[in-house]
Amino acid sequence: MQVPLLDLKRQYSALKKELEQAVLSVIAETKFIMGPEVVIFEKEAAEYCGSKYSIGVASGTDALLLALRACEVGPGDEVITPSFTFFSTAGTITRLGATPVFVDIDPDTYNIVPELIESKITPKTKVIMPVHLYGQCADMDPINRIAQKHHLKVVEDAAQAIGSKYKGKKAGAMGDFGCFSFFPSKNLGAAGDGGLVTTDSPDMAEFIRILRFHGAKPKYFHSFIGYNSRLDTIQAAILSVKLKYLDGWTARRREHALVYNSAFKGLDIITPQEEDFNYHIYNQYTIAVKNRDKLSAVLKENQIGHEIYYPVPLHLQECYRSLGYKEGDLPVTERKARDVISLPIYPELTTEEQDFVIETVKRSI
Ligand SMILES: *Cc1c(COP(=O)(O)O)cnc(C)c1O
Repeated sequence: MQVPLLDLKRQYSALKKELEQAVLSVIAETKFIMGPEVVIFEKEAAEYCGSKYSIGVASGTDALLLALRACEVGPGDEVITPSFTFFSTAGTITRLGATPVFVDIDPDTYNIVPELIESKITPKTKVIMPVHLYGQCADMDPINRIAQKHHLKVVEDAAQAIGSKYKGKKAGAMGDFGCFSFFPSKNLGAAGDGGLVTTDSPDMAEFIRILRFHGAKPKYFHSFIGYNSRLDTIQAAILSVKLKYLDGWTARRREHALVYNSAFKGLDIITPQEEDFNYHIYNQYTIAVKNRDKLSAVLKENQIGHEIYYPVPLHLQECYRSLGYKEGDLPVTERKARDVISLPIYPELTTEEQDFVIETVKRSI
């Protein structure tokens, strides 16, 4: 049996009519850039995320970039963030001329440890950027307390966490900005690239709206230098269709997670730990095992899709050598980079497929 890590074709067959209608109507209408569907989706997304405003942008990476720009991050500044994350988290900081300052993660949640943040704050620190990794929120209350105390902004990298909750609050609605990605493999995926920034500040929402449009307001009058970073109308139309189904899909993912958790109980497998106050949306179901590479080989042999998020932490990436980090600086991050492996958990995964994954993992351990 072949089990893909993610099979978007199943989602498509279920929504085929609705999706095709939405796309065709944009094509017929021809308002491809900033058509009415963008405004509609922004309104729905803000409501869904529990934020006052949301601004559609071209990707999750751009969401981070624009949010950091809105925090006035620039050359000489520092941004505190985890190293165990997708590249964009730090890449956007560096692209603005600032320096990422990496902090270690909690071994149970894979998220930044709030207690390790304060000692990294310097007069150059502007922003704390937690990442809600794999779909579980970082411990936001202490992070926000530290930020308030030191007059820092908080940008949530919620790219993997749409719909995730922390003490009842939604991901992206706890910091100054929330940044989301609609990359196809995220829980809410577009038919291409897309992203979103959420905020409760009307001024910041307006600033990002201008920023995504070359910094122009009115058109052709540029008071600052912006980007070409809009959410395509076609993508917005697709996302509006899919958003209605998101909570149902998340519920299925959570059911699959429970099945895995109980199947792996008592084995030499570290299963994901969901904090009592969190609602994990399982963008990834990630386990940690002693012989990760052997498990990966066995899964491959059995045609079971899997992936390693992430094999090289950012502080040890070639492109960040000049930052001067060395092995041993972030021990939990480095251990997890060696041990983690993510298994199929998409909503449409069948019982037979999941049983096969479980049996294969058990045989390999
Ligand atoms: C996917 C992702 C991004 C980037 O999103 P894109 O839409 O691919 O640009 C940023 N941060 C994290 C943690 C992600 O998982």
